[in-house]
Amino acid sequence: MNNWRTLFPCLKQKVHDRDLVYLDSAATTLKPQSVIDAVTKHYTFGTANVHRGIHFLSSDATRQFEETRESARSFINAKTHKEVIFTKGTTDGLNLIANSYAAEFLKQGDVLLISTMEHHSNIVPWQLAAQKAGFTIKEIPVLDDGSLDMNTFKKLLDSENVKMISIVHVSNTLGTINPIEEIIKLGHQKGAVVCIDAAQSVAHAKVDVQKLDCDFLCFSLHKLFGPTGVGIMFGKQELLEKMPPYQGGGAMIKEVTIEKTTYNELPEKFEAGTPNIAGVIASKAAFDFMGSLNFQAIHDYEENLLNLATEKFSQIEGLRIIGTAKKKCSVISFELKDVHPHDLGMLLDQQGIAIRTGHHCTQPLMKRFGVTATARASFTIYNNESDIDSLVNGINKAKELLS
Ligand SMILES: *Cc1c(COP(=O)(O)O)cnc(C)c1O
Repeated sequence: MNNWRTLFPCLKQKVHDRDLVYLDSAATTLKPQSVIDAVTKHYTFGTANVHRGIHFLSSDATRQFEETRESARSFINAKTHKEVIFTKGTTDGLNLIANSYAAEFLKQGDVLLISTMEHHSNIVPWQLAAQKAGFTIKEIPVLDDGSLDMNTFKKLLDSENVKMISIVHVSNTLGTINPIEEIIKLGHQKGAVVCIDAAQSVAHAKVDVQKLDCDFLCFSLHKLFGPTGVGIMFGKQELLEKMPPYQGGGAMIKEVTIEKTTYNELPEKFEAGTPNIAGVIASKAAFDFMGSLNFQAIHDYEENLLNLATEKFSQIEGLRIIGTAKKKCSVISFELKDVHPHDLGMLLDQQGIAIRTGHHCTQPLMKRFGVTATARASFTIYNNESDIDSLVNGINKAKELLS
């Protein structure tokens, strides 16, 4: 037995007089005490702005801020800290890339590939950029089991002028793990730049940007046991050097006159304004926490929960799992015959069980599977088999009440 569960104080509370059963980690993870303490410590004793002051608190905050950058660099194995940009989250990182790379370097006649299973934050920024730059967005379809249609992907690569691919590593809705190594390799053979949405994957498997050889990669700390409002955007240095800044303001400049500005070096060139200092500093505790775990142990533990839940779900009459790809992370989307996901979510909530219901920011994927919403349970290291029992009992109770 591990002690992971005991490190998350949020789980010690009751919701509607029941022990909280938290099955919504794909939306955001709970925070271990060490991360909570780091936020409190910064605001209690360490408040200062970074990169500006010469006084003790400011230089100490700057040191800690840069220590987190080093932790992030090491976490994804980037070559240099210059390739590690702090953002507000995955969405912010993807918008940065869409504005400063796609809108600048893709032209009319160029094609950008995304898939049907993308999160809206890996769709809409490209559409906005395409409206400015005139490039075309094409879609890699999803097969009935929720895996990516790799044959069509290869055909698109052969027949279209593909300049960029932006693809999710692990689907937040289906749990599908995409073969990104292969996608990156094939994309590069075609001369395309490849961007990875790693929002879901980083908490479940080792993501090594040098081994993957991806050009861009984004994730959010709040799905990695860290604070909200902090993300990492990785970009290869040679690409980041030629990209224009995304936002202008303090910290990203070298010299400003009213007529003209020269920009700061990487990574500051992409970090305009006062960042989420407390969040970034506390993110170090999240990276340390991840460092204290072992990805193989996480994988085995979560796989066991996923298999158990899948098996128990298959015994519930009228329950259909959406997304049954061979390679899956611990996320299960499902629908229940004659029960609206929203009603199911409300009834489960009354029993202290937190799941997600809705379109999960993936409306094209909902359309693909002929639904407008699903219920989604997601598992991580602090869940256990008893959580799954509670969920299964809860679903059965809801079925009785609603049918
Ligand atoms: C959560 C999520 C996002 C968006 O992340 P934010 O933290 O909301 O910016 C993008 N893609 C996937 C796959 C996600 O799960």
